[in-house]
Amino acid sequence: MNYLRRRLSDSTFISNLPNGYMTDLQRPDPAQPAPAATTTPAKSPTAGPMPPATSPTPEKKPQPTQSTGAGFFSSITNVVKQTAASAGLVEQTSVTTPKKFKILLIIDEQQQEWTKLFRGKKIYGDYDIKVEQAEFSEINVMAQANGTSSVTMQVYRNGTKVVRSFKPDFVLIRQHAFSMTQNEDFRNLIIGLQYGGVPSINSLESIYNLCDKPWAFAQLINTFRRLGADKFPLIEQTFYPNYKEMVSMPSFPVVVKIGHAHSGIGKVKVDNHSKFQDIASVVALTQTYTTTEPLIESKYDIRIQKIGADYKAYMRTSMSGNWKTNTGSAMLEQVAMTEKYKLWVDTCSEIFGGLDICAVKAIHGKDGRDYITEVVGSSMPLVGEHQAEDRQLISDMVLAKMNLLAEKEANTPQKPMTVQPSQGTGQKGEIIGETMKNGAARPPQGCLQYILDCNGVAVGPKPVQAN
Ligand code: ATP
Repeated sequence: MNYLRRRLSDSTFISNLPNGYMTDLQRPDPAQPAPAATTTPAKSPTAGPMPPATSPTPEKKPQPTQSTGAGFFSSITNVVKQTAASAGLVEQTSVTTPKKFKILLIIDEQQQEWTKLFRGKKIYGDYDIKVEQAEFSEINVMAQANGTSSVTMQVYRNGTKVVRSFKPDFVLIRQHAFSMTQNEDFRNLIIGLQYGGVPSINSLESIYNLCDKPWAFAQLINTFRRLGADKFPLIEQTFYPNYKEMVSMPSFPVVVKIGHAHSGIGKVKVDNHSKFQDIASVVALTQTYTTTEPLIESKYDIRIQKIGADYKAYMRTSMSGNWKTNTGSAMLEQVAMTEKYKLWVDTCSEIFGGLDICAVKAIHGKDGRDYITEVVGSSMPLVGEHQAEDRQLISDMVLAKMNLLAEKEANTPQKPMTVQPSQGTGQKGEIIGETMKNGAARPPQGCLQYILDCNGVAVGPKPVQAN
């Protein structure tokens, strides 16, 4: 048995098994306890209220064993199942009851602790909130045209690999969905969440639209045209779709901004023609667009942020003398919110159907003038002394939106749905729950397996051959 365990812990060995063999191993083994009981994944890193462990449905009666010889084979099968499940090669299966919690997916770095802000909170007075936090690089999204989605998350917490699958009821996105640095293009996941109809802050549409800075700048140009330079002093900018157009020279010095990146990456100060040509030759390798702006002799940077109805303004002054105040050391001070700043951020918060969380960036020049450079969305880093307060504001906003959605859901009559085993594309956990609550047909035992998350919550049915 130990030999088998060793062999089966080799994922190559398992993946080389004949197809039929693995399919067979994925069938429920009625005489044995549910695999979930023996292969419970590591405890959630999040401390959200945990739902009660799922017990087998009352209808599920033990089946008579086929023969005495089955014992040996079923113990081999169990070893294979346990090993394959721990290797993430098969899903654990069962049928479950409707869940009494809502899953909030928060896409953010691990060190940003969101769970505690939702601890003990209820949605619509009835549902607990279970927070799942992961970075973009740790998740994957599968979505179906019927508006359901399943997020698979693989995270390392305290040296333990935690693999889980769930259907998020809401998502808060606090990381950049796209940067042209290596492996930082997560737009496919935004598409998946949108496809699956997952509500979010900010809207997925706005997040996708903010994935190209010049695309977002085009919105600011519209605002500039509407309000005029006095009310909305937008910086002059030129867009080059690729290096080939970088033959018409701007007036120097300029700042060249290559592609879409953050934290000052890809921003170069250029003083003359020959350096501009050099930069154009570098852009030729990147196969992306570029923008240029006049280099503003800056006194300080301005950032006006809006989180729901809360406004804050900051100024950032470079201490190290770097022309980019976000590079090297800088001093950050909160400044008074003026009507002018409020107008900037309010108008920017209207773009792309509305931004719940946003910030406008500007440069205050030594000439005493302001130059608006950019708008950023819910991935904006929190700054200054009030980060804890800002985080609280964000979580309150998420709660309010989730409440609204739950209320809407409760007031929308649910159509009973019959799961069609033969089609194999049934609904996910929540809908299965509704189906049973409304007394519609429960899927025949043994015809559908339900993919479970680690808490035993069905996130999607999987068609298998009835025995
Ligand atoms: P972040 O990720 O912090 O938002 P970013 O990669 O979007 O940064 P920018 O904000 O465009 O980069 O530029 C970085 C810094 O460079 C700004 O904070 C500002 O101090 C400086 N800067 C940008 N554009 C100009 C300009 N046209 N003239 C002078 N300084 C500029």
